[in-house]
Amino acid sequence: MQQNICLGCGKTKDKSDLLRFTAIHSGEIAFDFKQKIPGRGVYLCFDKVCIDVATRQNKFSKAFGFDVNNQDTDYILGLLRHVYEKYMFTLMRQGVGAKKIESSVSADKKNTVKNAKLCIVSGDVGKDTEKNIERICSRYNIEYMFFSKKEMLSDNLDGKYRAAYFVFDKKLADKLKEMADKLNEINNWVV
Ligand SMILES: [Zn+2]
Repeated sequence: MQQNICLGCGKTKDKSDLLRFTAIHSGEIAFDFKQKIPGRGVYLCFDKVCIDVATRQNKFSKAFGFDVNNQDTDYILGLLRHVYEKYMFTLMRQGVGAKKIESSVSADKKNTVKNAKLCIVSGDVGKDTEKNIERICSRYNIEYMFFSKKEMLSDNLDGKYRAAYFVFDKKLADKLKEMADKLNEINNWVV
């Protein structure tokens, strides 16, 4: 396993446990989620403290050897949030396509809800609907979590508003939970 050094704390870690960033010559930082963008990359722990140290001490510019714009913690957290959100939508879209995810309406119709591993509820769902989903999830012992907003979900998925999505594949559910945990952590850092 390839190892790299965190720009913030200086610790050596497995590459897969670090975040990779690249920069283009206009000075823009990019978050290289898949760690595949060619060219020089720098690494950071998934930790606000390390991100802060790197941005405050101008470590991106030093590492790349040219002035890097947006060397700012909030900007970097925004990049992370954007990419994780996009990835969650991609996973969900693929899941819907592969019938590993069904909207609440369709799962209800087919009576498959009881087999779900995870329920993803839109963050701005109405109180009554929320209570209804909670009741269903506790009856079948399904973990549920909130993600995004109605409008974003319908734009990114099947084009119709659905209050919730049920995930039937364990591996996919775990991946989605991992991404949602990261997003929650970032949101906690921002507050
Ligand atoms: Zn670190």
